[in-house]
Amino acid sequence: MKLRIVKPLKITEPRASSMMSLTKKPSLLIVEDSPAARSQIKEIIKRFSLFATIYEAANGAEGFKVLLDKREIDLILCDVVMPKIDGFKFLSMKKTKPEFNEIPVIMLTGKEEVKDRIKGLEGGASDYVIKPCDPGELIARIKVQLKIKSLEDKLKRLAITDDLTKLHNRRYFFDVLEKEFDRARRYNAKLSYLMIDIDHFKRFNDTYGHQIGDKLLARLALLLKKGLRKHDTVARYGGEEFALLLPETNLNGAAIVAQRYRKQVEEKNFGSSRKPLRTTISIGVSCYPEAVMENAEDLVRHADEALYRAKQGGRNRMELAI
Ligand code: GH3
Ligand code: MG
Ligand code: MG
Ligand code: MG
Repeated sequence: MKLRIVKPLKITEPRASSMMSLTKKPSLLIVEDSPAARSQIKEIIKRFSLFATIYEAANGAEGFKVLLDKREIDLILCDVVMPKIDGFKFLSMKKTKPEFNEIPVIMLTGKEEVKDRIKGLEGGASDYVIKPCDPGELIARIKVQLKIKSLEDKLKRLAITDDLTKLHNRRYFFDVLEKEFDRARRYNAKLSYLMIDIDHFKRFNDTYGHQIGDKLLARLALLLKKGLRKHDTVARYGGEEFALLLPETNLNGAAIVAQRYRKQVEEKNFGSSRKPLRTTISIGVSCYPEAVMENAEDLVRHADEALYRAKQGGRNRMELAI
């Protein structure tokens, strides 16, 4: 059977994860074999304009395919009794992919199906609504699930974000680093790493005060973020240290990126014309597999050692690990 997906009500950009967007309305997936039930639900939901996009599927298999294709689904309404793959089977398929764990499912059940409701909730559903749906109840239950999801997403964002610079934090960075290192090793790909440290930042704080120091950190973070390509990752590694991960980049390529950043920082006025603020950075660069490395920690250690040499060599410099 051909997959039936309603035309999106509004075009939404694809999102990398199943986190709710901070600015866009969420997306809904309805998995229901009865066209009449689907229409009724859609009609209710459209009246309340809660969703930017509504996708439809006529059974669990189709629903799972929509999940795989459109990774930005924020909520699922799922019927229990369907041909081929039913609601319970759909729940267990969804469980096999950790990236779908956070997407809440509201089961749609018949009036008499108490056992189904319990089975659904035990199988991973967040709630249920009895068909034919009472519009007020359906919307109220949807709102509860969206609220929970948005709070969960907010917590997740906070846990991986550095408060001052709004960059990713060290915890998130190490997660990405481990994954990228494994990927590079498996596919024999290059992976470069930049360790960036502000020069004489203690002196900067002593001269201008800690608050201005904080401002400099935030503005430098912005500069680093701007120069990034799609698959690169930048994070605040520690106090005045930043780490950049450049997949598919050899040492030579990483050296070019590092020198570009070094020069940009050197030339930039981070303050105003009346109160100029200037700084410089030193950078250590390492690349897998151009030096002998067993694991991701080695990549960091090599960059650290190169950074140390850059500092020893007079600062406002880049050094390569070879
Ligand atoms: P070097 O060129 O050798 O790196 O000298 P440095 O002064 O930058 O290095 P050092 O490690 O001696 O000092 C780091 C300074 O960074 C000290 C600390 O006060 C400052 N720092 C760390 N985190 C923050 C922060 O969040 N805000 C501000 N304003 N300063 C910070
Ligand atoms: Mg059905
Ligand atoms: Mg430091
Ligand atoms: Mg420093």
